[in-house]
Amino acid sequence: AVALFNYQNKESVVNNSPKKEKNIEAKVDSVLALMRVNEKIGQLVQYSGGWDATGPSSSKGDQHKLDKLKKGEVGSMLNVSSVATIKETQRLVMEHSRLKIPLIFAFDVIHGYKTIFPIPLGESASWDLDIIKQSAAVAAKESAASGLNWTFAPMIDVSRDARWGRVMEGAGEDTYLNAQIGVARIKGFQGEDLSSVNTIAACAKHFAGYGFGEAGRDYNTVSIGEYELHNTILPPFKAAADAGVATFMNSFNDVDGIPATGHKGLQRDLLKEQWNWNGFVVSDWGSIGEMIAHGYAKDKKHAAQIALNAGSDMDMESYAYEAYLEDLLNEGKVTMSQLDDAVKRILRIKFELGLFDDPYKYCNEDREKTEVYSKENLDIARDVAKKSIVLLKNNNNVLPLSKNIKSIAVIGPMADDKNSPLGNWRGKGEYNSAVSLLEGIKAAANKNTKIYYEKGIDLTIPTVEAGKNQFLHPLKFNTEDNAGIKKAVEAAKKAEVVLLAIGEDAYQTGEGRSQTNIGFFGLQNELLDAIYKVNKNIVIVLSNGRPMDLSRVSKMVPSILECWHLGSQSGNAIADVVFGDYNPSGKLPISFPHSVGQEPLYYNQKNTGRPWNDKHVTYSGYQDAPKTALYPFGFGLSYTNFSYSNLKLSASEINLNQEIQASVTVTNTGKVVGEEVVQLYIRDLVASIVRPIKELKGFKKVVLEPGESKTISFTINNKTLQFYSVNKKWEVEPGDFNLWIGGDSTTKLKKSFKVVE
Ligand code: BGC
Repeated sequence: AVALFNYQNKESVVNNSPKKEKNIEAKVDSVLALMRVNEKIGQLVQYSGGWDATGPSSSKGDQHKLDKLKKGEVGSMLNVSSVATIKETQRLVMEHSRLKIPLIFAFDVIHGYKTIFPIPLGESASWDLDIIKQSAAVAAKESAASGLNWTFAPMIDVSRDARWGRVMEGAGEDTYLNAQIGVARIKGFQGEDLSSVNTIAACAKHFAGYGFGEAGRDYNTVSIGEYELHNTILPPFKAAADAGVATFMNSFNDVDGIPATGHKGLQRDLLKEQWNWNGFVVSDWGSIGEMIAHGYAKDKKHAAQIALNAGSDMDMESYAYEAYLEDLLNEGKVTMSQLDDAVKRILRIKFELGLFDDPYKYCNEDREKTEVYSKENLDIARDVAKKSIVLLKNNNNVLPLSKNIKSIAVIGPMADDKNSPLGNWRGKGEYNSAVSLLEGIKAAANKNTKIYYEKGIDLTIPTVEAGKNQFLHPLKFNTEDNAGIKKAVEAAKKAEVVLLAIGEDAYQTGEGRSQTNIGFFGLQNELLDAIYKVNKNIVIVLSNGRPMDLSRVSKMVPSILECWHLGSQSGNAIADVVFGDYNPSGKLPISFPHSVGQEPLYYNQKNTGRPWNDKHVTYSGYQDAPKTALYPFGFGLSYTNFSYSNLKLSASEINLNQEIQASVTVTNTGKVVGEEVVQLYIRDLVASIVRPIKELKGFKKVVLEPGESKTISFTINNKTLQFYSVNKKWEVEPGDFNLWIGGDSTTKLKKSFKVVE
């Protein structure tokens, strides 16, 4: 029987009345008042379970965790993720511990739980905040139905370096876009009410700077100036805090010499004090202990001291708080008020989730069966996936394919791959559960269309048993076995068009998956070249988790469709676009370079004293590559065309309290209905610190019928124009500004205005 939580015998004021008349703060205080020091420290401890299938083992580690759970000396578990195991684990606390404070169960629900959505970078290419919110809401509903309460998402690290494996997990290179998308995801996960059984607590991560690791190497040093930190990296986190995100996660990297986990300036002073945010900060996995390897803490005790002082509330898997906080308290190296503050923050979220009312409220086996992987969820996944696709090139209108096409060759290592589309960080997405490209094309094509399939090559050589989690295992690429290329060539010869599915394996991106080469690994170029000799009518259906070097292929093939790792409904979504049932509307959230040597590459650079000039050598560029992107930020084609005209400003001069309306007419000049992402960019021409050559400051997605025009307007005010200035505060500096509106970051349609005191 379920041991229902109640405090009646514990002299508690919590929930001892049928009416919940007390507000959460009073309840938190009343629980805190009952707690002994070991129980307080326990709330700050988070362990990984990972015992879903088997239950806890007899290992020393698992036995230690069970023992601590029973004593009520654990606050949270991660990686326990099914109703049955969550219930069992919660029961240990409820039946054995003195105060019966419920655990909060966390899991990396990054782009779906069982129903898998596009990887976050891909989903961000939709620029569609409604569907992004919807996808997070489905992920929340499914994971909450499996007993979970908390996801470690969204990642809102601005990342400008394609070499970094974790670019797949965020919203790309732009600060504004990361903030908007981060907030949409938070609202999707958390809903209106955290206590609903359909929502989970979100986590803004990684605070801060993780996306700026030097040379794109994961976990690497971040050397960044104060102004850049405030203007580029922190705004998405501020937006997340303002949106009421329940938790933050700190970060593995150091920021200008101070490990983020031990960074008091960021966590305690900025996030908690200045931003007045009242959720809790969890460390990243083992990051408290890692301050020893950084050379910042001399041992684990010292690390615990630094981390709590800095405002890291929960210790994920460092075992530092549980071992040393009590001694540190006795020695006066951390204070009781710091400990109490951390405990209160954690209890607050537990109350908000409703776990104190019923610690088993998320544990309902029936809901787990019906809510997870439902038809409705899969339909939403297909919708999100098709909107995430970006058409990068489409010469001669190769796409869309006519439904009357006689023959299609579907070729490549990813052509009938049902696993890679799930991407990395795939939640509980089951092995081989995605719809492959081949399956999608077959389902959508006419009966009379001949479809020839050939894999051609394997991209990788398996390093783990089929179906086993690849997360921690290195990839091995096939560089020798090209026997299948002949057959692929034969298939290509017979077909009107070749859909060539190449790119990156799911595990080429994600944590620890940095690369110095962002081209096509293994024998993929060899396969392309062989096919190109017999059939040039090739559409590259690209799977990938980072910007790739497309310089060579973009000169060869007429069409490139950027499909990321699109999730459960991948093949169906691609077929929707390939046959024109959906007109692609995605726009790149990150620049695609001509060469990896350009990385980090981003549109909103600052000018040097020697901006690019083709006529001279001694300017800031490269001898062997352009300075700009091959496919720029904000770029994506459609099966129709959009024209921009009539850019107008409601005023050419405003003071600091006034605003300007900027409007533009967008017309669909083609023959089919389409969606366009209308983008607003602004430049502050002269300022107390050097400002970027342009910055995204707004966007709107608009649907236009053939021949239809719409006027789109944006409001420009104080909030749009402010930046973190030399005075170390957010302010608008009077002066001249440029403004552009268009369909990508290279738009030339421009106006100027002035701000006066
Ligand atoms: C990652 C986090 C993740 C955590 C828990 C860490 O290695 O950096 O983003 O949430 O593991 O799985």
